[in-house]
Amino acid sequence: MTNSLEEQYVDGLYAPDPELERIVQRIKEHGMPAISVEDGYGRLLTMLGRMSRAERALELGALGGYSGLCLLRGLTGEKKLISLELKEDYARVAEQNLIEAGYGDHIEYRIGAALDSLADLVSEGQRFDLFFIDADKENYTRYLEYCIQLASSGAIIVVDNLFLRGRTLDKAKQGPSVQAIRKFNAMLAQDERLETTMLPAYDGLAIAIVR
Ligand code: SAM
Repeated sequence: MTNSLEEQYVDGLYAPDPELERIVQRIKEHGMPAISVEDGYGRLLTMLGRMSRAERALELGALGGYSGLCLLRGLTGEKKLISLELKEDYARVAEQNLIEAGYGDHIEYRIGAALDSLADLVSEGQRFDLFFIDADKENYTRYLEYCIQLASSGAIIVVDNLFLRGRTLDKAKQGPSVQAIRKFNAMLAQDERLETTMLPAYDGLAIAIVR
């Protein structure tokens, strides 16, 4: 995705981040897709954790660990990240990257379809303070329901890719992901269990507080 001039300008103001650059490089070396969260939203994930004094985060969609590192950097206390990833080889790359970043004792990867892992987390009675939904778009509505069930009081849920790189707003596009994300966005804005906002930069990001 080509970022806007404003997004490029802002990203260019920040010093390079060697740990995140290393993860981007590893993703490339492993032939994985370059679809990590955007720099500005990565910084926001860290800030949201810090501002809310989050101790436990749940990530849906690990890829190579870029957003995982951003989440971990903002956590306090126990500093626990559980990350759900469909592809074992991706999870192993992410895990190795986060071990190298010094977080080996704070991470747990659960391999397989996120819906199955979410059901397990509910039956285990797990609770999280911060969520990042960034896996397959067709399941976003179901993922949100699970995250609400797993949320501690006042937890924050962050959701990426509301615009699907322009497809959400293109009436000619009617594929399953596009239809699912349109429905998800509309439902999120009206959900009275949540206080929400949506940021229209990059590929669109929602931030919700569980009331
Ligand atoms: N959050 C990552 C980051 O910013 O560094 C990027 C995640 S990437 C956009 C989406 C990830 O979701 C991919 O690694 C993909 O394998 C994973 N994924 C897709 N479908 C999934 C599913 N049903 N359950 C769990 N993970 C899934």
